Amino acid sequence: MLLGHFSELTEHIDIKVKSSVLGLVPTMGALHEGHLSLIKKAHMECDKVIVSIFVNPTQFNNPDDLTKYPRTLDQDLDAINSVSKDVLVYVPTVEEIYPEGAEAEHFEFGTISKFMEGEYRQGHFDGVGTVLKRLFEVINPDRAYFGEKDFQQLAVVRKLIEITGQNVSIIGCETFRENNGLAKSSRNKLLTLEEKEQAGIIFENLKYIKSNFRDKPLLEILEKVKNNFEDSPLFNLEYCEVADEKDLIPAKKIESDKNYRAFIAAYCNNVRLIDNMSLN
Ligand code: AMP
Repeated sequence: MLLGHFSELTEHIDIKVKSSVLGLVPTMGALHEGHLSLIKKAHMECDKVIVSIFVNPTQFNNPDDLTKYPRTLDQDLDAINSVSKDVLVYVPTVEEIYPEGAEAEHFEFGTISKFMEGEYRQGHFDGVGTVLKRLFEVINPDRAYFGEKDFQQLAVVRKLIEITGQNVSIIGCETFRENNGLAKSSRNKLLTLEEKEQAGIIFENLKYIKSNFRDKPLLEILEKVKNNFEDSPLFNLEYCEVADEKDLIPAKKIESDKNYRAFIAAYCNNVRLIDNMSLN
């Protein structure tokens, strides 16, 4: 069921009986199987599920990226209905989320928001924090579902609720991939078939890091990844880092007692793709 306003939303959340569990899946739409895997998990684990669809202007540091972002509401509603007709879909306007104007609040997330996405998309995580704080306030979910595909975002959301004191359990969900390993993403819709096939380079390089990072010097591995992208006619590497999973500070060398994750961001023409992989 499609809900456009807070008042409609509140009416439906009132259905919630005291003991029931309300799950929220925040999205920006252009839904794919990755999103649907979150919605399915939420549907299995919660009594009531709300999917929000909102292309949040304050988390886009590049206006062109915001304009180009795919918007496919009718298909999204069909896709959600295919999971369950009981799922509520909340599609607010910008004015409803930002009654005072679309400005991001600043949060002190610490090191987890400083590097990689934080470095290359200035202000991005403040935008993410602002919209999620607002959605949590309005919807007051018991659980909220996020993909590990955006691992840094997942860490930021966990930190956000520590900062705001909002009482939401944050559930991380595995990355859903294409056959060639490409992480499903709304932005994949902007790629040609050929580009999508070639985009397997991201997953291949994450796997290369995973197979080698305990045996070879880290800097040598990262240099090899850089060269692999330089050899690719379609893809430009923005960053490749191996970072401690706890503080998300990029490592210079590997220490045996830490858990690491590899992160890649790359452009295919103007389409920006990110992915990551646990190295444990
Ligand atoms: P987005 O619409 O890109 O903001 O994504 C909404 C949620 O879906 C976020 O928590 C993402 O991390 C998650 N998500 C996006 N792509 C995938 C994927 N391929 N597998 C799992 N979760 C994903």
